[in-house]
Amino acid sequence: MCGIIGYSGPKEPLPILISGLSRLEYRGYDSAGVALIDGDNLSIEKKEGKLSVLKEHLEGTSIKGNIGIGHTRWATHGVPSDVNAHPHADNANEFAIIHNGIIENYAELKDDLIQDDYSFISETDTEVVAVELSRKWNGELLDTVLDVAKSLDGTYALVVTSTKQPGTIVAGRMMSPLVLGVGEGEVFLASDSAAILEYTNKMIFLENGDFVEINDGNFTLYDIEKNVITRDIQVIDWEVSEAEKAGHDHFMYKEILEQAEVIERTIAGRIEENSTEIPIHLDKAKKFEKIWIVACGTAYHAGLFGKDLFEKVLGVPVSVELASEFRYREPIVGENDLGIVISQSGETMDTIAATELLKENGAHVLALVNVVGSSLARMADSVFYLHVGPEIGVASTKAYLGMLVGQLLLAKHWDSDDKLAVAFDEISDLPKLIEQTMACEKQIKDISEKIYKKNDIYFIGRGLDYALAAEGALKLKEISYLHAEALAAGELKHGTLALIEDGTPVIVTASQNHLLDKTTSNVQEVIARGAYVIAIGDNQSKKLENISDEYVTLPDSNEILTTVISIIPLQFIAYHVANLNGESIDQPRNLAKSVTVE
Ligand code: GLU
Repeated sequence: MCGIIGYSGPKEPLPILISGLSRLEYRGYDSAGVALIDGDNLSIEKKEGKLSVLKEHLEGTSIKGNIGIGHTRWATHGVPSDVNAHPHADNANEFAIIHNGIIENYAELKDDLIQDDYSFISETDTEVVAVELSRKWNGELLDTVLDVAKSLDGTYALVVTSTKQPGTIVAGRMMSPLVLGVGEGEVFLASDSAAILEYTNKMIFLENGDFVEINDGNFTLYDIEKNVITRDIQVIDWEVSEAEKAGHDHFMYKEILEQAEVIERTIAGRIEENSTEIPIHLDKAKKFEKIWIVACGTAYHAGLFGKDLFEKVLGVPVSVELASEFRYREPIVGENDLGIVISQSGETMDTIAATELLKENGAHVLALVNVVGSSLARMADSVFYLHVGPEIGVASTKAYLGMLVGQLLLAKHWDSDDKLAVAFDEISDLPKLIEQTMACEKQIKDISEKIYKKNDIYFIGRGLDYALAAEGALKLKEISYLHAEALAAGELKHGTLALIEDGTPVIVTASQNHLLDKTTSNVQEVIARGAYVIAIGDNQSKKLENISDEYVTLPDSNEILTTVISIIPLQFIAYHVANLNGESIDQPRNLAKSVTVE
C-alpha cells in the first residue's frame, strides 16, 4: 500500500501534492517524494521518513512545474531510504513514475535491462518500470505506457510523466486503487478520494485495466488496447475523515473489508515453484530438525495455525512459543533449528529478544513481518513480508490473515510429498473466497444484536479451528471489553463447562470436517447446559447446523482454506459487538498498535 497523488491544471502543483500526501500518510509513511515537470526540466525530491521530513527539505528548494506527482511509500521491495523512495526515474532522468503495488516479474525485466546496459540505483520493483519506459519509448507517452503495462505481471496503480512529452500525465491501474478527481479545468489523481476531496467531489474510480491520459486539465480514459472507454463520474459527499476510511466509521472495519484485495498482494508472485519471493525453499527447509514459532498476541495465534501445517509437510516437531515466556527460559535450541518469528510491526520487543536468543543458539531465523526494514526484518536471516499495507486499527485483522496466508505459502513450498496439495492448489482462489465470505456480515450483525450485552462468551474449536477460536476471542476482548475465552473443544469438560449456563453464547468454528463428529459432541455438551450456540462451518456440517441456534455458512472450499476464511465472521462479531456497545474501536483502552515495551 502507499499513497499516490497527481495534479494537472492551472494551479501551482506542489501545495496540492503536499496537502494530498498528508491526507494519504495513513497509507504509507516510510518515505515520501514529489516530481514536477517544468518544460523539459524534471525535478524529483524525495526523503526517507515521514512527510514532515520531505516538507522541511522542500523549504530549502524552489522546485516548480506545471504538472506534478507525489507519493508516500509503504515499502515492499527494498528498505525505506531516500533512494528507494518514489518517484523513480529512468537512467536519463526523462521519465518519472510513482507506483502502488508489486511488479511480480521485476527481477526478469531487470536482468534483461541490465543485459541492454541499463543500470539501477534502487532496490525497488518500481524503478524497473521507469527504465523499461525509456527503453520502449515510441514517441508517445500513452502508447509507451500501454506497451510497458502489457509486459507487467502483478498489481499496480502507476502514474507517469515525462520531459519527452511535457504537460502529459498517464496513469493506470491493476488491482491497486486509483481515483481521478474531475475539477473545473483541472484533474487530480489519488489513491483515495480523501486526498483530493478538498478540491473536488467529482470522482471517477478507475477499474482494473483502466488507463487515463491527462493533458492540461483534460482527460481521456482508455483500456489497455487503447480503446476509448467511459466511466461514470460519482459525486462524493463524504467528509475528508470519512473518506480516509473509505466512508466507514472505523479503520478496523475498512481493514476487514479490504482483505480480499490485500491477500491478492500477499500471494502475488509467491505461488509458482522456485518463486524468488519465497525466502526458504524446500531443499533448505528439509535440513531443519526442529521449528520454533515465536510471537505474541495475534501473531502467536497465527503461529498456532502454522504448527500443524509445518509438522505435516516437513515431518519435524514444531513448538509455538509466547515470546515473553520463551525469552526468559532456557529452550533447547540447536544449530539445525529454524526459528519463525512473527510480528506485524517487526518491532515487538519480546519477539526481538526471543530472536536474539534464537540467533545466539545458532538457529536460522525467518521473520514474517509486515513492515519492510523493521527491526525484526533486519535481524532475521530470511524475511517473508506480509504485504498487507499499513494497519491502523489496533485490533489486527488483515495482518493476521496475512500471517495465516504467509505460513500457508511457506508450507506449500515445503510440501515435498504433496501431502496437502489439495489445499495448496487452491490458494489462488483465496481472494475470491474471502470476498464471498463477506456476505455473512448481515447475519453476523443480527447475531451480534443478540449477544452484545452478555458478560462472557466462549469460543471453541478443534485442530486448526482452535487456533482460530483463540484469535476470535482475543479480537472480541480487545475492542468490546467483554470477557471471552477460547478453548480446544475437547478441553471443556475438564473445567470450563462448569461456567456454561442458560443463554451463555458459545461460538464454534468447525472447518475441520475430519473432526466434525467430535466437535459436534462437544457442542451437544454445551447445549445440554443451555448454551446459545453460534456455529461457523461449510455446507457439509449439516449435523452441526441442525443443532445450533445460529449457523453461518461459509463458501465451499477445502478444510484448510475454510479455516482461513472462518476468521472473517469472527472479525465481524468482534466489530459489531463493540460497535453496539459504543466502544472506541480503532483505539481500544489500554492498548497500543506496536508493542515496543516488555
Ligand atoms: N513495490 C513498491 C515499493 O516497494 C511500491 C510499494 C507500495 O505499493 O506500497 O516501492
